[in-house]
Amino acid sequence: MPTYAAPVKDMQFLLHDLLKISEADIPGYSDLDRSFTEAILDEAAKVSQEILTPLNVVGDAEGCHLENGVVRTPKGFKAAFRTLSEGGWMSLDAAPDYGGQGLPYLMHTAVNESFVSANMAFNMYQGLTHGAYSAILVHGTEEQKAKWLPKLVTCEWTGTMNLTEPHCGTDLGLLRTKAEPQADGSYKITGQKIFISAGDHDMAENIVHLVLAKAPGGGEGTKGISLFIVPKVMVNDDGSLGDRNAVSVGKVEEKMGIHGNATCVMNYDGATGWLLGELHKGMKAMFTMMNEARLGVALQGYAVAEAAYQNAVAYAKDRLQGRDVTGVKNPTGPADPLIVHPDIRRNLMEQKSFVEGARALTYWGATLIDRAHQGDAAADGLIGLLTPVLKGFQTDKGFEMAVQAQQVFGGHGYIEETGMSQFVRDARIAQIYEGANGVQALDLVGRKLATDGGKHVMAFFEMVKAECKAHDGDDRMAGFVEPLKAASKQMQAAGMFFMQNGMKNPNAALAGSYDFMHLMGHVCLGLMWTRMAKAAYTALDAGAEDRAFYDTKIATGRFYMARQLPACAAHLARIESGADPVMALAAEAF
Ligand SMILES: Cc1cc2nc3c(=O)[nH]c(=O)nc-3n(C[C@H](O)[C@H](O)[C@H](O)COP(=O)(O)OP(=O)(O)OC[C@H]3O[C@@H](n4cnc5c(N)ncnc54)[C@H](O)[C@@H]3O)c2cc1C
Repeated sequence: MPTYAAPVKDMQFLLHDLLKISEADIPGYSDLDRSFTEAILDEAAKVSQEILTPLNVVGDAEGCHLENGVVRTPKGFKAAFRTLSEGGWMSLDAAPDYGGQGLPYLMHTAVNESFVSANMAFNMYQGLTHGAYSAILVHGTEEQKAKWLPKLVTCEWTGTMNLTEPHCGTDLGLLRTKAEPQADGSYKITGQKIFISAGDHDMAENIVHLVLAKAPGGGEGTKGISLFIVPKVMVNDDGSLGDRNAVSVGKVEEKMGIHGNATCVMNYDGATGWLLGELHKGMKAMFTMMNEARLGVALQGYAVAEAAYQNAVAYAKDRLQGRDVTGVKNPTGPADPLIVHPDIRRNLMEQKSFVEGARALTYWGATLIDRAHQGDAAADGLIGLLTPVLKGFQTDKGFEMAVQAQQVFGGHGYIEETGMSQFVRDARIAQIYEGANGVQALDLVGRKLATDGGKHVMAFFEMVKAECKAHDGDDRMAGFVEPLKAASKQMQAAGMFFMQNGMKNPNAALAGSYDFMHLMGHVCLGLMWTRMAKAAYTALDAGAEDRAFYDTKIATGRFYMARQLPACAAHLARIESGADPVMALAAEAF
């Protein structure tokens, strides 16, 4: 069975050496000293290792089943869900007014990472609930907040997000679910939604569905869409549960991975719902949930890769095959362990340098969200720009790295018993849901680069430039600064190509969008590795005890800069080849 140990030391390095959170000018951060965050992360590590990891394979093997209209989750899920809820793990960053603990989003992110690594499918029930909580917190009336939030905070009730219909996923303008206004101010919701994660289950007494539907008078396309709160069970004025609403599960999908999470067809047959946010502005309200969910999915990308990596390392140290070409390392054994071989090292270094870089980017992103929550417009703009990069790049690479971890196991990785197949199957969905990665790339190039007149991407370039300049004359940092400068220039050249060619021919920009998302992903990780290297040197210069940890950090960063950032040149070359090679064939020629 695969194992997992939460990388608390690395998390602590990021929080305190890199981000220096207790000194940051963000409300709530000054309380987050090393011992406080270590205590939380150690406890979360225990929960993930002792409760969630053993359930991961159970969830994969058993899956979820529809029995007499109710979805049954895998054995052990219900008890674990209750334990996490009672332990307060679901409410870390929720507002104290609604029963939460009021910690920053950053702490939710770090804790969430270990839960996702341990059991991605299980954690989605809580993740979607968190999204529903945020949407109601931001867009709900005081009455709605009082009614729905306290139970969502504790996960006594869970949440879902209902966008997709059989004929529309990306193009939500096509959606058909209808909302008919009623005399009492409620709406009757009628339609079918598909692929609804955590759509039904037996772990909570109620489920609060957030449903996109079209109310009369909104016009065509996405403009006519509104968002509704539609509970599985009606809630009486005194907060007690009433009758069942006209919401039912049509089917639980059989799928490639995340078997422990129920992916449901949901039928709304004149179900009672209430408008959340403004009429016909449902996409705006849903985006609160989707942006958060996208960051959660970005985290899934590297968190599953982390668990796969840990198992690959253990296997590479244990499995004996072949001899080290530079000299025998295991003379008493029949062969040397796999880890002596340079190609296995390459593979492991690619995984390690990606996972640690992505963790840094995600935590930094979480600090931007905490700043944005305090009304910091620059942080809000920057995280808006970075969100498609985090989602698209980290989930693509996360899947690739899970496959590489599986590769370390050779044929044994393909056999279910080792658990490596589950990591690959689970990681795959993150590239697809919350807006498929191709659509993230379109959002980045077609919308985010130009947002507010390009102000946020310019601020990003300035940030990279300032980082490089800060290390002028520091020879130890040259191996970081020079590749980062080159990659940043390549990213600017790609942006220039889009500006010069995209107006004449939009395909010229869109054909390069996927490469741009990856180019920018590498620049982001290059920036993170430069900052991490500096933080590691600073700790070493200050006489840090655990020198091996910091030396390893610097060597891992050097690998990323030397071996991964050169990919930016290839991405730029593809972008600059324009749309012609991509669009050369007529549709009939395929
Ligand atoms: C396991 C699972 C869980 C899910 N959970 C939820 C959930 O909880 N709630 C929910 O509402 N939905 C959920 N979904 C749905 C998911 O978000 C959609 O599947 C996804 O957004 C893509 O929509 P689609 O499948 O209709 O693909 P389509 O929109 O048909 O897209 C197909 C392909 O075409 C590409 N494409 C589409 N339009 C364009 C364009 N204009 N330019 C270039 N390329 C384009 C896409 O990138 C994609 O690769 C889930 C799906 C799965 C499989």
